[in-house]
Amino acid sequence: MIVKVTYPHMGYMWICVKAMLEYLGVDVVLPPPSSKKTLSFGVKHAPEFACMPLKLNLGNFMEAAELGADTIVMAGGCGPCRFGYYAQVEHAILEDLGYKYQLVVLEPPEKHIGELLGKIRHITGNRSWRQVIRGVRFGYHKAQAVDELEKMAYYMRPREITAGETDLALNRALKEIIAVKAPEELPAAREKAAQIMRAVPLDRQRKVVRVGLVGEIYTLLDPFANQDIERKLGRMGVEVDRSIHLSEWINDHLFLGLAKNMRSSKLAKQKALAYLGHFVGGHGMETVGNTVLYAEQGFDGVIQLLPFTCMPEIVAQSILPKVSADLGIPTMTLIVDEQSGDAGVVTRLEAFVDLLMRKKEIREGSVKCTVI
Ligand code: SF4
Repeated sequence: MIVKVTYPHMGYMWICVKAMLEYLGVDVVLPPPSSKKTLSFGVKHAPEFACMPLKLNLGNFMEAAELGADTIVMAGGCGPCRFGYYAQVEHAILEDLGYKYQLVVLEPPEKHIGELLGKIRHITGNRSWRQVIRGVRFGYHKAQAVDELEKMAYYMRPREITAGETDLALNRALKEIIAVKAPEELPAAREKAAQIMRAVPLDRQRKVVRVGLVGEIYTLLDPFANQDIERKLGRMGVEVDRSIHLSEWINDHLFLGLAKNMRSSKLAKQKALAYLGHFVGGHGMETVGNTVLYAEQGFDGVIQLLPFTCMPEIVAQSILPKVSADLGIPTMTLIVDEQSGDAGVVTRLEAFVDLLMRKKEIREGSVKCTVI
């Protein structure tokens, strides 16, 4: 059976999933990039208090159907947050609206690795196990390449001489990675992409503040969902570090931490234990633990991102003031939904960044603090 597979957008995840599926001969129908139109479709048909990722996923699938997609591939999950039944809820809504989608749910790999690979094999028309594993590795290496470029951009944005040059370079560099069709071509493309990034002139002496981004994975990874926070902060003179990257997630969950030189969520979970003793769903524990880690690493502040009504992150949000007071690291929580506006987000970020810069200047002695 020939199927036309679609899947939701989540930042640059599409690059690695598309590479994996196309390498395995699957016909991929990519939804248009998430936009206000995508969100408006989701908002119209999803339950009002569903979190924003569900609404965006729904909009993605409706737009992909217009382009001929007939099969949804979606991650599954198991409690305690709502993610575990997202795929089924979205599918039921689409059926009610008359869409004829086949649904393939990929359950979390830790507990169902055989089932996961079996489903990937099913979508690919029963390719050999060897090919399936090669395809997964190809997707993973593309995710690594994309993450490397994003991390370079974090360093470069607050130090670029000409505003916007980093993002122009990043777009060109990503095109090099996207164009690769076979694993053996990837190393040369990675080198070329890195050269493009290195060619951007920087002022390496410029004083910047460093901010860690923690929170719910979708909102962290997806620039549309998070109002492009990484770029906004970069242009305000902030070097960001995002606590979750796709390749790290794949290494942790799919390869069970085989690559030892990568950041792992295990450490964050250990650090969280002083404040939160059990799993609360999603990335709630990582949010708390990564805030501790950022404080220990001398970061100037932490921003928590979450969609309105996100249960695990609401738990983490209630704990962060204690972490902040104990470890002396300023934290800010940014909640996003379909009502979020650009100007409101910018105003809040500017105020937080001003505070961090002022604090840093006082700490470094370049400004005296006078109490009146
Ligand atoms: S982690 Fe939060 S945003 Fe994600 S599905 Fe669960 S409740 Fe929704």
